[in-house]
Amino acid sequence: MQISLNNTAAHYNAFVDDKTIIKDDVVKLDIGVHVNGAIGDTAVTVCLNKEHDELVKASEKALENALKIIKPGLKLWKIGEEIENTILSLGFKPVKNLTGHSIELYNEHAGLTIPNFNNHDDTKLKEDEVIAIEPFATTGVGFIDEKKNSEIYKVISDHQTRDAISRSILMFMNENYNGLPFSKRWLVKKFKPFEVNFALNNLIKEGIVMEYKHLVEKSNGIVSQSEHSVLVKDKPIILTKR
Ligand code: MN
Repeated sequence: MQISLNNTAAHYNAFVDDKTIIKDDVVKLDIGVHVNGAIGDTAVTVCLNKEHDELVKASEKALENALKIIKPGLKLWKIGEEIENTILSLGFKPVKNLTGHSIELYNEHAGLTIPNFNNHDDTKLKEDEVIAIEPFATTGVGFIDEKKNSEIYKVISDHQTRDAISRSILMFMNENYNGLPFSKRWLVKKFKPFEVNFALNNLIKEGIVMEYKHLVEKSNGIVSQSEHSVLVKDKPIILTKR
């Protein structure tokens, strides 16, 4: 689970010993769960101040409207257009360089990119594909930048490393996360912090592990997010319905 506040759109995961206190913030809760590699990805935004309730409604409404048009054969740009129009009509901007995605076994971001604006992508949805639709609405300019390191990682290569500590931590990552993202907090429960830091530095340098960055709105606009995972059918099935 990622908990991203205010102008951070995504990829904030509590650091080891994180002291952040949530107050009157716009809180995005983005949750990924898997059962034997079958992944559900879903997000809600909770507004703890009165000021940004409308912003939260904009991403919710955009998701609701996009879900209404999903069917096999639908072109991807139509989803983007629906999201963009909904968010603009409510007085906000979609974040254009964050997208939804298709989902496959043990692959949370598979081939397809589901746009949050009309990007003219003519690719058609296919029956039985699983896609995550995740509109982001903002009070800002509608773009995010990659900022600080997030302490969320993923193994991206099956290469081996020579160093013994790195090798044993890499084996733990592969056995427990199987290509899915994981947090440093989970590793320090099992290994000594200095070993974890040493191994992560080494594995990143060798191109075996990557670290995600905090995604922050370019103009520091406040961001809301809504997300569901959907099985594409003539009557689509929302897999993450609450
Ligand atoms: Mn997602």
